[in-house]
Amino acid sequence: MSELQSIDLYKLVDDIKAWANALGFQQVGISDIDLSQHEAALQSWLDNQYHGDMAFMASHGMKRARPAELVPGTVRVISVRMDYLPPDASFAKHLNNPDIGYVSRYALGRDYHKVLRNKLKRLGEKIQSELANTQFRPFVDSAPVLEHAIAEKAGIGWTGKHSLTLNKQAGSWFFLGELFINLPLPVDEPTTEEHCGTCTACLTICPTQAIVAPYVVDARRCISYLTIEYDGVIPEALRKPMGNRIYGCDDCQLICPWNRYAPLTEEADFHPRKVLHGQSLAALFSWDEHTFLTNTEGSPIRRIGFTKWRRNISVAMGNAGYDERYVTLLTEALYGACDVLRPHLEWAIQQQQQKAGEMLTRPRQITRLVRTIEKGLPRDA
Ligand code: SF4
Ligand code: SF4
Repeated sequence: MSELQSIDLYKLVDDIKAWANALGFQQVGISDIDLSQHEAALQSWLDNQYHGDMAFMASHGMKRARPAELVPGTVRVISVRMDYLPPDASFAKHLNNPDIGYVSRYALGRDYHKVLRNKLKRLGEKIQSELANTQFRPFVDSAPVLEHAIAEKAGIGWTGKHSLTLNKQAGSWFFLGELFINLPLPVDEPTTEEHCGTCTACLTICPTQAIVAPYVVDARRCISYLTIEYDGVIPEALRKPMGNRIYGCDDCQLICPWNRYAPLTEEADFHPRKVLHGQSLAALFSWDEHTFLTNTEGSPIRRIGFTKWRRNISVAMGNAGYDERYVTLLTEALYGACDVLRPHLEWAIQQQQQKAGEMLTRPRQITRLVRTIEKGLPRDA
Protein backbone atom coordinates (compact mmCIF):
# COMPACT_ATOMS: atom_id res chain seq x y z
CA MET A 1 0.00 0.00 0.00
CA SER A 2 2.20 2.87 -1.29
CA GLU A 3 -0.39 5.39 -0.12
CA LEU A 4 0.44 4.29 3.43
CA GLN A 5 4.15 4.97 3.14
CA SER A 6 3.53 8.64 2.48
CA ILE A 7 1.41 9.20 5.55
CA ASP A 8 2.35 9.92 9.15
CA LEU A 9 0.32 7.27 11.02
CA TYR A 10 0.86 8.99 14.38
CA LYS A 11 -0.68 12.15 12.98
CA LEU A 12 -3.51 10.07 11.51
CA VAL A 13 -4.22 8.56 14.94
CA ASP A 14 -4.40 12.06 16.45
CA ASP A 15 -6.82 13.05 13.71
CA ILE A 16 -8.93 9.90 14.19
CA LYS A 17 -9.25 10.65 17.89
CA ALA A 18 -10.21 14.26 17.23
CA TRP A 19 -12.80 13.19 14.62
CA ALA A 20 -14.19 10.58 17.00
CA ASN A 21 -14.49 13.14 19.80
CA ALA A 22 -16.23 15.53 17.43
CA LEU A 23 -18.70 12.75 16.59
CA GLY A 24 -19.57 12.49 20.28
CA PHE A 25 -17.35 9.66 21.53
CA GLN A 26 -15.82 10.36 24.93
CA GLN A 27 -12.84 8.05 24.53
CA VAL A 28 -11.00 6.34 21.70
CA GLY A 29 -8.28 3.71 21.82
CA ILE A 30 -6.53 1.55 19.27
CA SER A 31 -5.59 -2.07 19.79
CA ASP A 32 -3.95 -4.82 17.80
CA ILE A 33 -5.94 -7.97 17.14
CA ASP A 34 -4.14 -10.52 19.29
CA LEU A 35 -6.80 -11.62 21.78
CA SER A 36 -5.36 -15.11 22.21
CA GLN A 37 -5.01 -14.68 25.97
CA HIS A 38 -8.83 -14.60 26.22
CA GLU A 39 -9.47 -17.78 24.25
CA ALA A 40 -9.25 -20.18 27.19
CA ALA A 41 -11.73 -18.15 29.30
CA LEU A 42 -14.10 -17.86 26.34
CA GLN A 43 -13.96 -21.61 25.72
CA SER A 44 -14.59 -22.40 29.36
CA TRP A 45 -17.57 -19.99 29.44
CA LEU A 46 -19.05 -21.75 26.41
CA ASP A 47 -18.26 -25.22 27.80
CA ASN A 48 -20.20 -24.33 30.95
CA GLN A 49 -23.18 -23.35 28.80
CA TYR A 50 -23.16 -19.90 30.42
CA HIS A 51 -24.28 -18.43 27.10
CA GLY A 52 -27.68 -20.08 27.56
CA ASP A 53 -29.79 -20.08 24.40
CA MET A 54 -27.56 -17.58 22.63
CA ALA A 55 -26.45 -20.16 20.09
CA PHE A 56 -24.86 -17.44 17.98
CA MET A 57 -22.27 -17.01 20.73
CA ALA A 58 -21.15 -20.59 20.34
CA SER A 59 -21.52 -20.71 16.57
CA HIS A 60 -18.95 -17.96 16.12
CA GLY A 61 -16.54 -20.05 18.17
CA MET A 62 -13.01 -18.67 18.42
CA LYS A 63 -13.70 -16.20 15.63
CA ARG A 64 -14.77 -13.93 18.47
CA ALA A 65 -11.21 -13.78 19.69
CA ARG A 66 -9.75 -13.56 16.19
CA PRO A 67 -10.90 -10.36 14.47
CA ALA A 68 -9.05 -11.12 11.23
CA GLU A 69 -11.04 -14.35 10.83
CA LEU A 70 -14.25 -12.38 11.22
CA VAL A 71 -13.26 -9.58 8.85
CA PRO A 72 -10.30 -10.61 6.68
CA GLY A 73 -7.67 -7.91 6.35
CA THR A 74 -8.30 -6.43 9.81
CA VAL A 75 -5.07 -5.52 11.61
CA ARG A 76 -6.33 -3.00 14.19
CA VAL A 77 -9.48 -2.24 16.13
CA ILE A 78 -10.52 1.30 17.00
CA SER A 79 -12.46 0.99 20.24
CA VAL A 80 -14.78 3.82 21.27
CA ARG A 81 -16.70 4.73 24.40
CA MET A 82 -19.92 6.71 24.58
CA ASP A 83 -21.49 7.60 27.93
CA TYR A 84 -25.20 6.92 28.26
CA LEU A 85 -26.27 7.73 31.82
CA PRO A 86 -29.26 10.02 31.43
CA PRO A 87 -30.10 12.91 33.72
CA ASP A 88 -32.95 12.02 36.05
CA ALA A 89 -31.93 8.36 36.19
CA SER A 90 -34.25 7.90 39.23
CA PHE A 91 -32.71 4.54 40.09
CA ALA A 92 -33.93 4.19 43.66
CA LYS A 93 -37.25 5.90 43.06
CA HIS A 94 -38.20 3.41 40.39
CA LEU A 95 -36.49 0.26 41.67
CA ASN A 96 -38.08 0.66 45.08
CA ASN A 97 -41.57 1.12 43.74
CA PRO A 98 -42.86 -2.36 42.80
CA ASP A 99 -45.75 -0.85 40.81
CA ILE A 100 -43.38 0.84 38.36
CA GLY A 101 -41.72 -1.00 35.48
CA TYR A 102 -37.95 -0.61 35.74
CA VAL A 103 -36.15 -0.30 32.40
CA SER A 104 -32.38 -0.52 32.28
CA ARG A 105 -31.02 3.00 31.95
CA TYR A 106 -29.26 2.37 28.66
CA ALA A 107 -32.56 1.51 27.00
CA LEU A 108 -34.68 4.54 27.87
CA GLY A 109 -33.75 6.53 24.79
CA ARG A 110 -32.94 5.84 21.16
CA ASP A 111 -31.48 2.50 20.11
CA TYR A 112 -27.75 2.78 20.82
CA HIS A 113 -26.92 0.28 18.08
CA LYS A 114 -28.13 2.76 15.51
CA VAL A 115 -26.59 5.82 17.16
CA LEU A 116 -23.14 4.29 17.58
CA ARG A 117 -23.06 2.40 14.30
CA ASN A 118 -23.92 5.53 12.31
CA LYS A 119 -21.18 7.48 14.03
CA LEU A 120 -18.63 4.69 13.60
CA LYS A 121 -19.52 4.47 9.93
CA ARG A 122 -18.96 8.20 9.57
CA LEU A 123 -15.61 7.84 11.31
CA GLY A 124 -14.62 5.05 8.92
CA GLU A 125 -15.66 7.15 5.92
CA LYS A 126 -13.65 10.10 7.20
CA ILE A 127 -10.55 7.89 7.46
CA GLN A 128 -11.29 6.55 4.00
CA SER A 129 -11.40 10.09 2.64
CA GLU A 130 -7.78 10.46 3.80
CA LEU A 131 -6.66 7.01 2.71
CA ALA A 132 -8.70 5.62 -0.13
CA ASN A 133 -7.59 2.01 0.43
CA THR A 134 -8.99 1.95 3.95
CA GLN A 135 -11.39 -0.88 4.65
CA PHE A 136 -13.45 -0.87 7.80
CA ARG A 137 -16.41 -2.48 9.48
CA PRO A 138 -18.26 -1.08 12.50
CA PHE A 139 -19.58 -3.28 15.30
CA VAL A 140 -21.81 -2.32 18.20
CA ASP A 141 -22.66 -4.84 20.92
CA SER A 142 -22.19 -7.51 18.34
CA ALA A 143 -22.04 -11.19 19.28
CA PRO A 144 -18.87 -12.07 17.38
CA VAL A 145 -16.80 -9.30 19.00
CA LEU A 146 -15.08 -9.55 22.40
CA GLU A 147 -15.71 -5.88 23.09
CA HIS A 148 -14.50 -5.80 26.70
CA ALA A 149 -11.24 -7.57 25.90
CA ILE A 150 -10.69 -5.17 23.00
CA ALA A 151 -11.50 -2.13 25.16
CA GLU A 152 -8.97 -3.31 27.73
CA LYS A 153 -6.32 -3.69 25.05
CA ALA A 154 -7.15 -0.28 23.61
CA GLY A 155 -6.66 1.34 27.03
CA ILE A 156 -10.34 2.24 27.56
CA GLY A 157 -10.47 0.53 30.97
CA TRP A 158 -10.28 -2.74 32.86
CA THR A 159 -12.82 -5.52 33.02
CA GLY A 160 -14.64 -5.44 36.35
CA LYS A 161 -15.77 -8.49 38.29
CA HIS A 162 -19.23 -8.02 36.77
CA SER A 163 -17.52 -8.55 33.38
CA LEU A 164 -18.17 -5.00 32.12
CA THR A 165 -15.53 -2.44 31.23
CA LEU A 166 -14.71 0.07 33.96
CA ASN A 167 -12.89 3.34 33.68
CA LYS A 168 -11.61 5.31 36.67
CA GLN A 169 -13.17 8.57 35.50
CA ALA A 170 -16.23 7.24 33.68
CA GLY A 171 -17.35 4.21 35.72
CA SER A 172 -19.24 1.78 33.51
CA TRP A 173 -22.33 3.62 32.26
CA PHE A 174 -21.17 3.65 28.67
CA PHE A 175 -21.55 1.83 25.39
CA LEU A 176 -18.62 0.40 23.51
CA GLY A 177 -18.25 0.25 19.77
CA GLU A 178 -15.53 -1.09 17.51
CA LEU A 179 -14.24 -0.21 14.09
CA PHE A 180 -12.29 -3.09 12.55
CA ILE A 181 -9.77 -1.58 10.16
CA ASN A 182 -7.03 -2.68 7.77
CA LEU A 183 -4.56 0.11 8.65
CA PRO A 184 -1.48 -0.68 10.79
CA LEU A 185 -2.12 2.28 13.12
CA PRO A 186 0.11 2.76 16.19
CA VAL A 187 -1.64 1.13 19.14
CA ASP A 188 -2.46 2.57 22.58
CA GLU A 189 -1.10 1.32 25.87
CA PRO A 190 -3.36 -1.46 27.10
CA THR A 191 -4.97 -1.28 30.53
CA THR A 192 -3.01 -3.78 32.56
CA GLU A 193 -4.11 -2.88 36.06
CA GLU A 194 -7.54 -3.65 37.45
CA HIS A 195 -8.97 -1.56 40.26
CA CYS A 196 -11.67 -3.78 41.76
CA GLY A 197 -9.30 -4.78 44.52
CA THR A 198 -11.04 -6.74 47.27
CA CYS A 199 -14.49 -5.37 46.41
CA THR A 200 -17.16 -7.96 45.65
CA ALA A 201 -20.21 -5.70 45.86
CA CYS A 202 -21.54 -6.63 42.44
CA LEU A 203 -21.38 -10.36 43.18
CA THR A 204 -23.23 -9.88 46.44
CA ILE A 205 -25.95 -7.55 45.15
CA CYS A 206 -26.86 -9.50 42.02
CA PRO A 207 -30.51 -10.47 42.59
CA THR A 208 -30.12 -13.85 40.87
CA GLN A 209 -26.49 -14.65 41.78
CA ALA A 210 -25.65 -14.60 38.11
CA ILE A 211 -22.04 -13.56 38.71
CA VAL A 212 -20.92 -17.05 39.56
CA ALA A 213 -17.28 -16.06 40.10
CA PRO A 214 -15.37 -12.83 39.63
CA TYR A 215 -15.45 -11.94 35.91
CA VAL A 216 -17.82 -14.82 35.09
CA VAL A 217 -21.52 -14.19 34.43
CA ASP A 218 -23.85 -17.11 33.87
CA ALA A 219 -26.16 -15.47 31.33
CA ARG A 220 -28.86 -18.05 32.07
CA ARG A 221 -29.34 -16.47 35.51
CA CYS A 222 -28.81 -12.83 34.48
CA ILE A 223 -31.94 -10.67 34.40
CA SER A 224 -30.63 -8.79 31.38
CA TYR A 225 -30.45 -12.05 29.45
CA LEU A 226 -33.75 -13.34 30.79
CA THR A 227 -35.72 -10.20 29.94
CA ILE A 228 -34.05 -9.37 26.63
CA GLU A 229 -32.26 -12.25 24.93
CA TYR A 230 -34.20 -15.21 26.23
CA ASP A 231 -37.27 -16.19 24.22
CA GLY A 232 -38.70 -18.91 26.42
CA VAL A 233 -40.41 -19.44 29.75
CA ILE A 234 -38.46 -17.81 32.56
CA PRO A 235 -37.55 -20.38 35.23
CA GLU A 236 -39.88 -19.99 38.18
CA ALA A 237 -37.05 -19.76 40.71
CA LEU A 238 -35.74 -16.62 39.00
CA ARG A 239 -39.05 -14.76 38.69
CA LYS A 240 -39.26 -13.38 42.23
CA PRO A 241 -35.72 -12.00 42.23
CA MET A 242 -36.56 -10.13 39.02
CA GLY A 243 -38.74 -7.78 41.05
CA ASN A 244 -39.98 -4.96 38.84
CA ARG A 245 -37.13 -5.16 36.29
CA ILE A 246 -39.00 -5.50 33.00
CA TYR A 247 -36.13 -4.79 30.60
CA GLY A 248 -32.57 -5.40 31.68
CA CYS A 249 -31.00 -4.90 35.09
CA ASP A 250 -28.57 -2.32 36.41
CA ASP A 251 -27.91 -3.59 39.91
CA CYS A 252 -24.29 -4.68 39.47
CA GLN A 253 -23.42 -1.28 38.01
CA LEU A 254 -25.52 0.64 40.47
CA ILE A 255 -23.64 -0.77 43.45
CA CYS A 256 -20.20 -0.30 41.89
CA PRO A 257 -18.17 2.36 43.72
CA TRP A 258 -16.56 3.44 40.45
CA ASN A 259 -19.94 4.68 39.25
CA ARG A 260 -20.37 7.17 42.08
CA TYR A 261 -19.07 10.05 39.98
CA ALA A 262 -19.82 8.74 36.52
CA PRO A 263 -20.57 11.49 33.99
CA LEU A 264 -23.99 12.03 32.46
CA THR A 265 -24.46 11.51 28.76
CA GLU A 266 -23.91 14.34 26.31
CA GLU A 267 -26.11 12.59 23.77
CA ALA A 268 -29.69 13.85 23.68
CA ASP A 269 -30.70 10.61 21.90
CA PHE A 270 -30.12 8.72 25.17
CA HIS A 271 -32.40 10.90 27.24
CA PRO A 272 -35.42 8.97 28.56
CA ARG A 273 -38.66 8.79 26.67
CA LYS A 274 -41.55 9.67 28.91
CA VAL A 275 -43.64 6.67 27.84
CA LEU A 276 -40.93 4.29 29.11
CA HIS A 277 -39.57 6.07 32.16
CA GLY A 278 -41.27 5.57 35.52
CA GLN A 279 -44.50 4.23 34.06
CA SER A 280 -46.82 2.03 36.09
CA LEU A 281 -46.95 -1.69 35.33
CA ALA A 282 -50.68 -1.39 34.78
CA ALA A 283 -50.20 1.33 32.16
CA LEU A 284 -47.41 -0.56 30.37
CA PHE A 285 -49.33 -3.83 30.37
CA SER A 286 -52.38 -2.10 28.93
CA TRP A 287 -50.57 -1.30 25.69
CA ASP A 288 -51.81 -3.26 22.70
CA GLU A 289 -49.29 -4.40 20.11
CA HIS A 290 -49.80 -1.32 17.97
CA THR A 291 -49.10 0.96 20.95
CA PHE A 292 -46.04 -1.11 21.84
CA LEU A 293 -44.65 -0.72 18.32
CA THR A 294 -45.40 3.00 18.27
CA ASN A 295 -43.97 3.75 21.71
CA THR A 296 -40.82 1.72 21.12
CA GLU A 297 -40.09 2.92 17.60
CA GLY A 298 -36.34 3.54 17.35
CA SER A 299 -35.84 2.09 20.85
CA PRO A 300 -33.84 -1.08 21.62
CA ILE A 301 -36.89 -2.40 23.47
CA ARG A 302 -38.72 -2.93 20.20
CA ARG A 303 -36.28 -5.74 19.40
CA ILE A 304 -37.72 -8.05 22.06
CA GLY A 305 -41.22 -7.97 20.61
CA PHE A 306 -44.65 -7.66 22.20
CA THR A 307 -44.88 -11.16 23.71
CA LYS A 308 -41.63 -10.88 25.69
CA TRP A 309 -42.57 -7.36 26.75
CA ARG A 310 -45.83 -8.65 28.25
CA ARG A 311 -44.08 -11.71 29.66
CA ASN A 312 -41.66 -9.49 31.58
CA ILE A 313 -44.39 -7.16 32.85
CA SER A 314 -46.50 -10.16 33.95
CA VAL A 315 -43.65 -11.34 36.16
CA ALA A 316 -43.31 -7.85 37.66
CA MET A 317 -47.07 -7.74 38.34
CA GLY A 318 -46.78 -11.07 40.10
CA ASN A 319 -44.06 -9.55 42.25
CA ALA A 320 -45.98 -6.37 43.07
CA GLY A 321 -48.30 -6.03 46.05
CA TYR A 322 -51.88 -7.17 45.69
CA ASP A 323 -53.92 -5.04 43.35
CA GLU A 324 -57.24 -6.12 41.94
CA ARG A 325 -56.43 -4.30 38.70
CA TYR A 326 -53.47 -6.63 38.13
CA VAL A 327 -55.62 -9.72 38.54
CA THR A 328 -58.13 -8.33 36.03
CA LEU A 329 -55.46 -7.38 33.49
CA LEU A 330 -53.63 -10.70 33.82
CA THR A 331 -56.82 -12.73 33.62
CA GLU A 332 -58.02 -10.85 30.54
CA ALA A 333 -54.65 -11.50 28.89
CA LEU A 334 -55.05 -15.25 29.33
CA TYR A 335 -57.49 -15.26 26.46
CA GLY A 336 -55.50 -16.26 23.38
CA ALA A 337 -52.15 -16.11 25.22
CA CYS A 338 -49.33 -18.06 23.56
CA ASP A 339 -47.37 -20.89 25.20
CA VAL A 340 -44.62 -18.52 26.31
CA LEU A 341 -46.84 -15.86 27.84
CA ARG A 342 -49.45 -18.09 29.48
CA PRO A 343 -47.32 -19.66 32.26
CA HIS A 344 -46.20 -16.20 33.38
CA LEU A 345 -49.76 -14.91 33.47
CA GLU A 346 -50.89 -17.92 35.49
CA TRP A 347 -47.94 -17.60 37.85
CA ALA A 348 -48.55 -13.88 38.35
CA ILE A 349 -52.28 -14.42 39.03
CA GLN A 350 -51.36 -17.10 41.57
CA GLN A 351 -48.90 -14.72 43.27
CA GLN A 352 -51.55 -12.02 43.41
CA GLN A 353 -54.16 -14.43 44.80
CA GLN A 354 -51.72 -15.61 47.43
CA LYS A 355 -51.13 -12.02 48.52
CA ALA A 356 -54.86 -11.34 48.56
CA GLY A 357 -55.28 -14.40 50.78
CA GLU A 358 -52.56 -13.18 53.11
CA MET A 359 -54.27 -9.82 53.34
CA LEU A 360 -57.49 -11.52 54.35
CA THR A 361 -55.96 -13.85 56.92
CA ARG A 362 -53.56 -11.36 58.48
CA PRO A 363 -56.25 -9.21 60.22
CA ARG A 364 -57.84 -12.42 61.52
CA GLN A 365 -54.51 -13.58 62.93
CA ILE A 366 -53.95 -10.22 64.58
CA THR A 367 -57.46 -10.21 66.10
CA ARG A 368 -56.88 -13.73 67.51
CA LEU A 369 -53.53 -12.68 68.96
CA VAL A 370 -55.02 -9.59 70.63
CA ARG A 371 -57.83 -11.67 72.15
CA THR A 372 -55.32 -14.21 73.43
CA ILE A 373 -53.22 -11.53 75.07
CA GLU A 374 -56.31 -9.92 76.57
CA LYS A 375 -57.28 -13.20 78.15
CA GLY A 376 -53.79 -13.44 79.61
CA LEU A 377 -53.36 -16.83 78.02
CA PRO A 378 -50.17 -18.15 76.41
CA ARG A 379 -50.04 -17.18 72.72
CA ASP A 380 -50.22 -20.73 71.47
CA ALA A 381 -53.35 -21.49 73.47
S1 SF4 B 1 -27.30 -7.34 35.23
FE1 SF4 B 1 -28.39 -7.82 37.14
S2 SF4 B 1 -28.79 -10.01 37.03
FE2 SF4 B 1 -27.20 -9.57 35.50
S3 SF4 B 1 -25.28 -9.87 36.56
FE3 SF4 B 1 -25.77 -7.71 36.83
S4 SF4 B 1 -26.89 -7.62 38.75
FE4 SF4 B 1 -26.86 -9.75 38.11
S1 SF4 C 1 -18.71 -3.54 42.30
FE1 SF4 C 1 -16.63 -3.81 43.04
S2 SF4 C 1 -15.98 -5.82 42.26
FE2 SF4 C 1 -17.79 -5.21 41.11
S3 SF4 C 1 -16.98 -4.23 39.29
FE3 SF4 C 1 -17.33 -2.60 40.79
S4 SF4 C 1 -15.37 -2.38 41.87
FE4 SF4 C 1 -15.30 -4.32 40.75
